[in-house]
Amino acid sequence: MSYLELAGLQKRYGNSVAVDDVSLSVEQGEAVALLGPSGCGKTTTLRMLAGLVAPDHGAISLDGAEITRLPAHRRNMGYVFQSYALFPHLSVARNIAFGLEERGVARQEIARRVDEALALVRLAGLGQRRPKELSGGQQQRVALARALVIQPSVLLLDESLSNLDAKLRDAMRHEIRSIQRSLGITTLFVTHDQVEALTMCDRIAVMHRGRIAQIGGAEDIYDRPATRFVAEFVGRANVLPIQRDTQGRASVWEQALPVEAAMNTDLFVRPQRMRIVPVSEPVGEGMARLTGRVLRSVFVGDHVEVLVEGGGGQLTVEMPSGIAIPAEGAEVAVVWPHAESRVFAREAP
Ligand code: ATP
Repeated sequence: MSYLELAGLQKRYGNSVAVDDVSLSVEQGEAVALLGPSGCGKTTTLRMLAGLVAPDHGAISLDGAEITRLPAHRRNMGYVFQSYALFPHLSVARNIAFGLEERGVARQEIARRVDEALALVRLAGLGQRRPKELSGGQQQRVALARALVIQPSVLLLDESLSNLDAKLRDAMRHEIRSIQRSLGITTLFVTHDQVEALTMCDRIAVMHRGRIAQIGGAEDIYDRPATRFVAEFVGRANVLPIQRDTQGRASVWEQALPVEAAMNTDLFVRPQRMRIVPVSEPVGEGMARLTGRVLRSVFVGDHVEVLVEGGGGQLTVEMPSGIAIPAEGAEVAVVWPHAESRVFAREAP
C-alpha cells in the first residue's frame, strides 16, 4: 500500500458527477499534479483529501490508516488556497502561527517554528508586516509557510500560482519544487497549466470529466498519451484525418502511411517530432513521410514553426532555429519516426 491512497472516490452535486471513481496511489515524498481543464473535478478531489468535502463513495487512507471520515483539522494536511486566504488583520507571523496556536503548541516553540518557516520561504525579517504590505509573490510564500509550519503529512496546493504574473510564477515553481524536495513532503498540486504540472511534479494525473484519463511521468504523458483527450490537452499535436481505401489501407493527404486503418480515426504527431527534408531524400528505416508545400514559417525565438500544406490539410513542424528553413512554396517532405505516430478515434460531434 502506498503512503496516500485514494480508492474509487466519487462526488455528486445534484445530478452532475464532479468526481467519478478516482483512484490514485501516491508514495511518500512524491509530488503529483492533478492536471485538467476547468470543471474536470481537480479541486473537488483535493478538497475530499483535505476533509473539506465528504465523498459519496470511496476511501482515502494515509500511512496505512483510513481517514475518509476524519474531520479536516485531524488530518494534518497543509492546504494552500488559490486566493491564499490570509487573515488581513493579523501580522505575517501570526498568520503563520495560526495552525500551531490551534494545536496548542507552546509559545516559544511557535516563535521558533515561525522563524524557521519564514526563513524557508525567504521572508526572514518580514514577520511583523500585514499581508497587504507584501507583494503577491510574498503573500503566496506566507500561505506556503503557513501550510508547512504544521509539518503536514501531505501538502495540498490548489492553483496556488495562478494569481502571479508569468515571471514570478516561473520563479515560484522552482522555489516550491525545491522546498518540496528538500523537505521530502508528499504533495498534491492542482493546476490547469501543463507547464506547471510538467515542471513541478514527479507524476501527473490528467483529469477529464471527473476521472483520471492517464497517470504517469511527464514524458509518458507527452510522448505516449493514452487517450485523444490527453494528446490534445497536453502539448501541441498535428491532427490528420486518416482515410481508409477499399483494400483497407490507410492514407493521409492521399499518401499511404503505415498506420492502423480503422474507420473514423485521426493521426496525431507532435510538431517537434517532425523534420523537413528534401523530397529527393530516401525514406529512412522506421520513418513515416508525407510530402507537401511550405505555406509559411514563423520565427518564435528558440524555434521556427513551419506550416506545410498538402492534400487539402495542413500540419506544423517545429524546427530548431538556426537550421536552414525551405522557402515558402517549396515542395518538401515531412518525416517523423513511425513510433511517434498515435491513432485515436474521432470524437462524435
Ligand atoms: P476549476 O479549475 O475551474 O477549479 P476543477 O477541475 O477544480 O475546475 P471542480 O471545482 O472540482 O473542478 O468542479 C467539478 C464540477 O463540480 C464542476 O462542474 C463544478 O461546477 C461542480 N461543483 C464543484 N463544487 C460544487 C458545489 N459546491 N456545488 C455544486 N457543484 C459543484
